[in-house]
Amino acid sequence: MGSEYRCPFDHLLILDFEATCEKDNYDYPQEIVQFSVVVLNTREKIIREDLFFNQYVRPVINPQLTDFCAELTGIDQDTIDNAKTFPEVYNNFCAWLKEHNFQEKRFAIVCDSRQDMWRLAQYQFLLNKQPFPTIFRQWVNLSLYYRQDLRMAQQQDFVHQSFIERMSAFYNIPFDGHAHNAKDDCSFLAKVTKHLLDNEKSININESLKCISGYRNVPFNVDPEWKSNFAASAKVLEAILPLVSFRMRDYNSEDNFGKCLYCFNADCTGKEHKQYPAYVYEQLKEPSVFAITAGLKRE
Ligand SMILES: [Zn+2]
Repeated sequence: MGSEYRCPFDHLLILDFEATCEKDNYDYPQEIVQFSVVVLNTREKIIREDLFFNQYVRPVINPQLTDFCAELTGIDQDTIDNAKTFPEVYNNFCAWLKEHNFQEKRFAIVCDSRQDMWRLAQYQFLLNKQPFPTIFRQWVNLSLYYRQDLRMAQQQDFVHQSFIERMSAFYNIPFDGHAHNAKDDCSFLAKVTKHLLDNEKSININESLKCISGYRNVPFNVDPEWKSNFAASAKVLEAILPLVSFRMRDYNSEDNFGKCLYCFNADCTGKEHKQYPAYVYEQLKEPSVFAITAGLKRE
């Protein structure tokens, strides 16, 4: 265990968002309600228990949490009512990065899937009419490492629902706290990340965003039940969100940080949709709440 971690970053910032939600509705305007980051120092090989970011966020479109969401996240209405809105919390996060001298390119964000950045963050910044931050353009998707390990072990898991539950079972790392509390999720994911690094896994950024994708030129039929079907909703959202997520190999910060994987521009924030899916909107039986609230649907 004397050797250094196989990771090009000084710090991994394990990040998780919780967002407003409604049962069986994937066309819900999901606003971030909890924003958490746990720090893994890869040079000293420690999870910084003393240093984390954890703030609640007051949603604007649906300030009242659904019972489903309150139960899922364990967040109570009072906490949300007394929280700041997203732009202020994001500014607090940037100030926190600065205060602790976390410099872009020297850290990487780690998430348990593509959902936090590609869908939740992209939507939140569209909602706030702010450009998508370059620090969120690329991340480590931990589930890709897990899937690879699962394949190598020739196992399958049909028992557990979430990636977190599956990873907990597979790596035999217990989950402490409340599932779907962003801070508790981050603490768990930090342990998984450390476990992988301790076992000499090489960890690097493996997903990024781009503004144009070949597969978006292939028309598809929208499942009429897309709003209540996760897989069908992902297809619709991949078409209507300006930036799409992509697997990335051989990431290096000097060439790739903050840049679009398609046009290589750092200021490609996807505000203008370059593959506007008019045919998708035409197929929707009722308008997409997600698209309209984000200002994506053209009149
Ligand atoms: Zn681009």
